[in-house]
Amino acid sequence: MKYQVLLYYFYTKIEDPAQFAQEHLAYCQSNELKGRILVAPEGINGTLSGTVEATNAYMDYMRNNPLFDGIVFKIDEAEGHAFKKMHVRPKDELVNLHLEEDINPNELTGEYLEPAEFLKRMQEDNTVVIDARNTYEYDLGHFRGAIRPDIQTFRELPEWINENKEQFEGKQILTYCTGGIRCEKFSGWMKREGFDNVAQLHGGIVTYGKDEVAKGQLWDGQCYVFDERIAVPVNQVEHVIVGRDHFDGEPCERYINCANPECNKQILCSEENEDKHLGGCTHECRVHPRNRYIAKHQLTESEVLDRLAQIGETIAK
Ligand SMILES: [Zn+2]
Repeated sequence: MKYQVLLYYFYTKIEDPAQFAQEHLAYCQSNELKGRILVAPEGINGTLSGTVEATNAYMDYMRNNPLFDGIVFKIDEAEGHAFKKMHVRPKDELVNLHLEEDINPNELTGEYLEPAEFLKRMQEDNTVVIDARNTYEYDLGHFRGAIRPDIQTFRELPEWINENKEQFEGKQILTYCTGGIRCEKFSGWMKREGFDNVAQLHGGIVTYGKDEVAKGQLWDGQCYVFDERIAVPVNQVEHVIVGRDHFDGEPCERYINCANPECNKQILCSEENEDKHLGGCTHECRVHPRNRYIAKHQLTESEVLDRLAQIGETIAK
């Protein structure tokens, strides 16, 4: 059976997000859809998987609701579900920018650029491209030459921009993110901050990678996605690996979560290095009493000591 993964957002006024979420969840569950949907007073943002039939029915269901007039879905073919469960959660905002004074993208946002136009502008002089995602997303893949804000969460982005203003002043600023939703607000915020030449990649990287003209060009690596696939290809013309193994710096596109549940950091590493390092990003994480790798592989204490010895580590007594 064929499946599809949908990704979408829509800024619109939703009167009672909690009530809406409850009814929406019931609909999704009865149609055997799985995924994650956020509902806020300012709109909806979701990604879900299901059979072609179920996902097509979902898109019709949404398009038939006047609240979502104009909604755009990004569709990926898949072999099965990309999620384990179905969540629909009411939230205060769709993306966590935590601005004191909020931005409504329907009123203020950067110029929308379709993929072919984005590709062209990216190569113009006096242009900076800002990646509006987190560092672990950037590290798996990004536009060639794009700026990598040193942030762990989206809400840190405005502060980072303020601290690094001089890189952007007087420039044509292009922003991009996975599906476009973060840029809607972020580019609007940039404009309100006084940057006047701000444009965003409409539909995000996911749309860019499917576009017949842009063909994903000038994208290096893969695109990080928030489902079980983790990484999806973008560039149809060439594949340059930019991800680097956390342990040895070799080219790598395999993400794992650090085996220490209290760390849980996402790191790129080969299977071999995961085995060698007991799935832990640091020595502390390797020897953490609740290390998930050790539990999963049912390693005995002497086996753990052996592995550690091979990388020149011991457990301090
Ligand atoms: Zn760790």
